[in-house]
Amino acid sequence: MIKSSHSDKINGERTSHLEAVNRATIQALRLVLEMGRQGVSLNRIDKPEIILQEVQDKIDRLIPWEAAAFYLMDDQDADLSMVLCTPSKAAPRIKAIFERLVEERILSLVLRRSDHYFAGGDDSEVLIHAMNTVSRCRGVFLGIPQQPRKAIHDTSLAIFSIMMQSAAQTLESYELYRIIREVNSELEDKIKRLESEMAERKRVQRSLIDSRHMLHLVMDTIPQGIFWKDTQSVYLGCNRHYACLLDLEKPENILGKSDGDLSWRKKEAARHRDVDLHVMREKKAQLALTDRIVRADGSEAWVETDVVPLKDANGAIIGVLGCTQDITERKRYQERLTHMALHDPLTGLPNRALLLERLERAIERGRRRNNYHFAVLMLDLDRFKQINDTMGHQIGDQILVRQGRRIGECLRGMDTVSRTGGDEFVVLLEELNSPREAVVIARRLFHEIKRVEVVDDTELFITASGGLLIKTKSYLSADDLLRDAEIALQSAMEKGGAGFKVFTTSMLQRFMHAASLEHDLRRGLAHNEFVLQYQPIYTLNGCVLIGFEALARWNHPVRGLISPVEFIPVAERTGIIKELGDWVLQTACLTMSEWRTRFPKARDLFMSVNLSGRQLAQPNLAATVLQVLQETGLSAASLKLEITESAIMENADLALITLRELKRLGISLAIDDFGTGYSSLSYLHRFPVDTLKIDRSFIAALDNHDGQQITQAMMALAHSLKLTVVAEGVEKDLQIDSLRGMSCQCVQGFFFSRPLDALAIHELLA
Ligand code: C2E
Ligand code: MG
Ligand code: MG
Repeated sequence: MIKSSHSDKINGERTSHLEAVNRATIQALRLVLEMGRQGVSLNRIDKPEIILQEVQDKIDRLIPWEAAAFYLMDDQDADLSMVLCTPSKAAPRIKAIFERLVEERILSLVLRRSDHYFAGGDDSEVLIHAMNTVSRCRGVFLGIPQQPRKAIHDTSLAIFSIMMQSAAQTLESYELYRIIREVNSELEDKIKRLESEMAERKRVQRSLIDSRHMLHLVMDTIPQGIFWKDTQSVYLGCNRHYACLLDLEKPENILGKSDGDLSWRKKEAARHRDVDLHVMREKKAQLALTDRIVRADGSEAWVETDVVPLKDANGAIIGVLGCTQDITERKRYQERLTHMALHDPLTGLPNRALLLERLERAIERGRRRNNYHFAVLMLDLDRFKQINDTMGHQIGDQILVRQGRRIGECLRGMDTVSRTGGDEFVVLLEELNSPREAVVIARRLFHEIKRVEVVDDTELFITASGGLLIKTKSYLSADDLLRDAEIALQSAMEKGGAGFKVFTTSMLQRFMHAASLEHDLRRGLAHNEFVLQYQPIYTLNGCVLIGFEALARWNHPVRGLISPVEFIPVAERTGIIKELGDWVLQTACLTMSEWRTRFPKARDLFMSVNLSGRQLAQPNLAATVLQVLQETGLSAASLKLEITESAIMENADLALITLRELKRLGISLAIDDFGTGYSSLSYLHRFPVDTLKIDRSFIAALDNHDGQQITQAMMALAHSLKLTVVAEGVEKDLQIDSLRGMSCQCVQGFFFSRPLDALAIHELLA
């Protein structure tokens, strides 16, 4: 029993010891667990002291200490320095121990160990624990336990070691964390810097893109083609407009190409290259170079290009820059203007300016080529003015257009038909085998022209007069060609029209003669070389003198007396007739006025004065005549004005107005040379005339039956219209007999009297 109670006692002690160990172990494990938990919030710990403080709180509960301290490795100088010491009064002791341990090199030994170590004798034991981590020693713990070493439970020591290791790891983690934080913050700085660099780069890039985009936009918006080439005249780029011009799908397609690879024609491509090289060599721009492009769709475009040297920042030539403008519209407009300037708007035929140009070219060709023959044909439509006046300008225009077309149809492709004036056409015949070929062509042409035109249901018989110039070799100017063609034309017109005349030198001589006559006429007028003769007019019945016709004569200093038949047409053509006519009217009226006062026999006589077509066309004629009457004192009733049918027909509307005005003044009007024109008496009767002078050609024809019949008919008609008839050019008895039989009232002719000068008339009247 005793045995049993002893063993019971022993058993009881063992049990309580085990329980104590177990309790301590569980507590320690809890602490470890807590520590593990704290490790999670490691990133919140800023100071290692706080970690150690917590560790110390726990190991204080595990092993009570008299004094304890942590020495941590200083990162700067790798020395150990004390960071914690509890309680504070023990600090000097710990410090002293620490220094001794360092001195005795115990610490350096301890630091290599990873478990706890007791230093010193039994009375002053110091528990040392190095806080070794994977990488190095972080620090060391020094503690003077309150209990002797033997009293400290092994488990407590084991847990202490674990805690220290854990603390060391936490410190390492902390340090890693700190390093990471530093590295992080450095990284962060770097990242920040990188980011801002990247942002800046992006901004620059964006602005580069923006300006590039803008540049493209501007280039593509400019309504001009822009291109740039390298020193070999190879394209480096162009804008959209230029690409479009050359039928390229996009501007990039031009890269590496030269003009020979594009829509340009070979010749132009070569010229462009020459221009580019020249611009680069001379370092000077070439401006306004014009080109024609034929586009893929067959359309044609005109462009104008400026090429300037392209230089780099140092001024070295690196190629050329070109600016191309589409000038198709401008070109077309110019062409239209040129066409307008060189063509007749009504017929669309070349005008005089273009004709002159072609004539000059033909002369030049004739000079260079021996066997080159050309001819000039000038045409004038007969009586066109009459058509215009009677049928209106619209119909006149239609006829001009048709005739122009018809002339063109008769010619060959190389010939030129031009309209040079009102109803005047000039044809230039080129590349003739011989000059005579022109005559054959002209004959065919005139045959074609002579046709009945139906305009507005009216049939018109159109004829033309023509002057053909075939010997053109010796000519030096277009004007000379036209002058001689016109001389031939005049000649054809004088012959009554409806045909053409080939120019001859005798025509030219006649023309020259007329020209010198014109010159002499002006001089003669200035030098009073003109005189009047007066031819008496009688009644047929009783041969009573009733008046005179004033007839102009030219007393030429060299040629003597010149007939009006010769100079009146020249005076009319040149306009001198106006002055001459005024002089005749003035002189005749003055003479008659004097005779009337001087000779009683002259009191009831009239003076007949001839008026030309040009005079009749003067709008102020009546006023002029009235003024002359007033100045000379002759009464209007004593004046008779003779106008030919053709003069009236030249401008019938105006003639009617003027004649009515003259009639209103009390002046008598006579139609001269009746029967030679193309008008009918019934038409002429619309004009306020009172006398009809039958042309002397009809009087001369009175010796034959037909002539008698015609004169008889004219006479009868005149009587029925109550017109006084004067027979002109009566030379023979026989004519007088015939005229008596026809009840002709008045006569004028050599049979009775030739035209006499004033002195001779004085004798007659005295
Ligand atoms: P006209 O008015 O018919 O004048 C009559 C012409 O017949 C005159 O010719 C006259 O000399 C001519 N003559 C008269 N009787 C006979 C005759 O029996 N036999 C022949 N063979 N001839 C006769 P002239 O003087 O040579 O005048 C010719 C034309 O010149 C005139 O024809 C007239 O149209 C024009 N003329 C003459 N003087 C003037 C004038 O002052 N002004 C204008 N505008 N024309 C004039
Ligand atoms: Mg007359
Ligand atoms: Mg007459």
